[in-house]
Amino acid sequence: MRATVMYAAHDVRVETVPDARIVEATDALVRVTRACICGSDLWPYNSMAPTATGNRMGHEFIGVVDSIGADVRTVKKGDLVVAPFAWSDGTCEFCQQGLQTSCLHGGWWGGTSLDGGQGEAVRVPLADGTLVALPVGPDHALMPSLLTLSDVMGTGHHAALRANVRPGKVAAVVGDGAVGLCGVIAARRLGAEQIIMLGRHADRIALARRFGATDVVSERGDGAIERVRELTGGLGAHSVLECVGHGESMRTAVSIVRAGGAVGRVGVPQETTIPNAQPTFYANVTIAGGPAPVRAYMHELMPDVLEGRIEPGLVFDRTTNIDGVPDGYRAMNDREAIKVMIEF
Ligand SMILES: [Zn+2]
Repeated sequence: MRATVMYAAHDVRVETVPDARIVEATDALVRVTRACICGSDLWPYNSMAPTATGNRMGHEFIGVVDSIGADVRTVKKGDLVVAPFAWSDGTCEFCQQGLQTSCLHGGWWGGTSLDGGQGEAVRVPLADGTLVALPVGPDHALMPSLLTLSDVMGTGHHAALRANVRPGKVAAVVGDGAVGLCGVIAARRLGAEQIIMLGRHADRIALARRFGATDVVSERGDGAIERVRELTGGLGAHSVLECVGHGESMRTAVSIVRAGGAVGRVGVPQETTIPNAQPTFYANVTIAGGPAPVRAYMHELMPDVLEGRIEPGLVFDRTTNIDGVPDGYRAMNDREAIKVMIEF
């Protein structure tokens, strides 16, 4: 089968690899129908040290179950399923409390030992705890939006929950990538009255407004902080969704949250410390967040997608096939594309 392998920064290849197959009785073999490239794939794309073996890529996918191991109960051959960006058993202490990204027996797609989503097929470990069956066919018009449940929509939702978004309050979203845009959807869905998007790209801002952003701040650094304060009567936002992970974006996030407010961070931190320790301490600011347990949110968000109340699939502004994946990485890295979908 063919799959995406990253060998070094800016070195992404589509190669023939060993066919995915069932190994454990709890596995399912999924033939991928849709996948995508993630903003977080761009971190290794810009920084990965060269390796001889390479890393299999991709952690967001929808596919059809091709076969199952003897112990799999909740999905069957022929089911269309969506996978979360981390696999999990669904039964341990943390899975039971809805924190599947901390599953005691789970893990992450790709790398050197597992298949990634950016390939023709995937061996899915712990299929019962990991996969969720979709009630529609693989060519359904809502497929792009359903694909976002594997990561970006669930991650935006997680940022909004951790930032304690409340009806009638002010939310600010730092980052205009796919996760930030889904954060706007999530903030609106949870009832925020004023939603301030911090971003600069015209196409992304237009989408943010369509998703419910009421204000846009395109300044950077101190200018952005000042502008958010102006928009919030000098007080700052009740909830800040940090959807980038850079030191600068985190500094902005902790500088625009109001006293007693919360920052929900879902951008993978690129720095070892969180800025503004003392001001956030004296203002009783909550700083929370981490990798989103999107598996926990799939059943909650799916009806909103299927019934048309939210359309996160609009973040996909380019579609390619597997041969176009390397150029898809380049396009997202050059900010030519917000998010690239792969059709198989
Ligand atoms: Zn678990």
